[in-house]
Amino acid sequence: MNLLNLRKQAKQQFKELGIDTEDADFIIAETLNVPRTELPLINELTPKQTKQILKHINERKNKKPVSKIFKRAYFYGLKFKINNKVLSPRQDSEILIETALKYIKQNKIKSVLDLCTGSGCLAIAIKKNADVMLQAADISQAALRLAKTNAKLNDVEIKFVKSNMLTKIKNKFNLIVSNPPYIPTHEINLLEDEVKKFDPILALDGGKTGLDFYKIINDTAIKNLTPDGMLILEIGNEQKDDVINMFSNFKFVECVPDYGGLNRVLVFKLNKTET
Ligand code: GLN
Repeated sequence: MNLLNLRKQAKQQFKELGIDTEDADFIIAETLNVPRTELPLINELTPKQTKQILKHINERKNKKPVSKIFKRAYFYGLKFKINNKVLSPRQDSEILIETALKYIKQNKIKSVLDLCTGSGCLAIAIKKNADVMLQAADISQAALRLAKTNAKLNDVEIKFVKSNMLTKIKNKFNLIVSNPPYIPTHEINLLEDEVKKFDPILALDGGKTGLDFYKIINDTAIKNLTPDGMLILEIGNEQKDDVINMFSNFKFVECVPDYGGLNRVLVFKLNKTET
């Protein structure tokens, strides 16, 4: 098949379905394993190439995100393997990394725990950019398997622990970071298809109010923090006040918006050092 026709056709179909038309070239280039800038240089596709591209275009038309089609994602300049057992890394979460790196430097933080690690993207991005001891935990064995693969892929050393929140975590850390599931159960079916059909519900569902996992962190994190310990948590835009009010065991430090201007990250520190 002629590539130009296929590109035009795919873009038109994506447009009608409200899918970003840029995804068409992205999918074609990724399938052919060439840079996007080289697409105009290709005229005819082999039947095998055509078949593969059409398969991926159809997956995207069914709202499968490109990260899940190609089973990989980029986050904080690093490459990760992805599958349907973990949340695809979001660009929005990169601000959590920026914030964590700022406090790690400022407070000479030596040990970090990433709770609900999923693909491992937060833990790996931090470890890659800071000289700290890192542990990462998740309740899902499948997620941990993938996170371990990602740590190897990015050449970092992280200790992974299977744990329901902090129940199996023994050590104390200077910092705990987490992007827990935070979508209220009744709002999951309002999420875009890309998320609700292809990200695991386990990684999204934060219970009736969406705040279940923040409550657990407020109730239990003290046992795994040093006296000057900190928490850096991702939140949903509307959850800022509820989470700050809930965190009775901690002192609120700051709320950091993401690059889209939405409330995204909350920073707390343990109150204990103060009288
Ligand atoms: N930010 C994700 C979304 O909006 C949710 C991530 C989470 O629950 N931790 O789909």
